[in-house]
Amino acid sequence: MQKAASHPEGPSAARKIIRSRADLAINGAPPAFAEPLHVGRPNIGDHNAFLQRVNRILDSHRLTNNGPMVQEFERRIAAHLGVKHCIAMCNGTIALEIAIRALKLEGEVIVPSWTFIATAHALYWQGITPVFADIDPVTHNLDPDAVRRMITPRTTGIIGVHLWGRPAPVDELQAIADEHGLKLMFDAAHAFGCSYRGRTIGNFGACEVLSFHATKVLNSMEGGAVVTNDDELAETMRLMRNFGFSGYDNVIHPGTNGKMPEVNAAMGLVNLDALPQFIAVNRQNYHAYVEAFAGIDGLTLLEYDEASTPNYQYVVIEVSPDFQATRDEVVAALQAENVLARKYFWPGCHRMRPYRELFPHAGLILPGTLEVASRIAVLPNGGAPAGGIKTIAGLARMLGESGV
Ligand SMILES: *Cc1c(COP(=O)(O)O)cnc(C)c1O
Repeated sequence: MQKAASHPEGPSAARKIIRSRADLAINGAPPAFAEPLHVGRPNIGDHNAFLQRVNRILDSHRLTNNGPMVQEFERRIAAHLGVKHCIAMCNGTIALEIAIRALKLEGEVIVPSWTFIATAHALYWQGITPVFADIDPVTHNLDPDAVRRMITPRTTGIIGVHLWGRPAPVDELQAIADEHGLKLMFDAAHAFGCSYRGRTIGNFGACEVLSFHATKVLNSMEGGAVVTNDDELAETMRLMRNFGFSGYDNVIHPGTNGKMPEVNAAMGLVNLDALPQFIAVNRQNYHAYVEAFAGIDGLTLLEYDEASTPNYQYVVIEVSPDFQATRDEVVAALQAENVLARKYFWPGCHRMRPYRELFPHAGLILPGTLEVASRIAVLPNGGAPAGGIKTIAGLARMLGESGV
């Protein structure tokens, strides 16, 4: 935040105006941006506040093992989300694995293919088969009817993902879970601070999993957490996170090492203080993108419903099949300009190893996933694009008129 404030245009000031194909870096012109504009550039709060906390950690010699910073972080996160328990972990993937194990999931668990690979891996890593259900190509979230179709006698649970921070169809998924006696949990890695029907995400299903990875709206460099309102589940996960230790010499549960170090909690706390600014910047950029992209036929920005308190961390465009350039050409042209657009989560988990060997024909039942995977690109947000959004839109407009 400090750096951005002292250089309002920052490294994102564009160096050229794109008027014709000859102006494109992909055709040999110099790139529009001197420095790469990354998707998921880390949001960093007050440097001095962080360094002061690091000094306190060093002075105290408490580096890890549920120290005071982690406890403070857990209290602050739980209060922020209005949820009873927050169990901080070393990252979101371990948090998923521990939540899955604490819920005793086994056999088959239904997940979207359109998610970060960790959602599927956290199951497969523990000998559970992730079964991919299709998404609604409009919401990019699980389609409840598709979930129903994937239920078998081996199914034990459903993991919904609040993709891009837009809430999954929570009520419909809960109804399916109740009807079939399945456990329901959520991968809320994108959805910190977002809400569903007036209630903050973190309060749904048996538990919800957060990620504080560097690229997320709220980061602790690496980090994650499980949040839940279930006392017993919380206690089990606390044991699992710390080798099953209850007190110094007493192990009472199987476990692993999922502990969050103090320095990560310190980063998380400092960034939590700055979260309103991070979201305000994201939101402002998002609206600048909306304005700059208005009227470009064949390019649509993914919409957010203000009522679901989005964090606007992801600026997602959909490139329609009748746009003059293909999605891949758009991404390549942007990248040549140093706008490092991404195709998340192309090609979909079901087309990555090992799942494509496991389910070679999954694509036949995932038309919504394939459609979205072929159309979307994610653009830089956060501190990255500041002065460059009009240039990015100018490039897109030109591609729409004359292709690459
Ligand atoms: C980032 C992410 C994860 C993994 O979190 P890490 O903290 O990087 O382990 C899981 N699921 C989704 C949807 C994510 O975006």
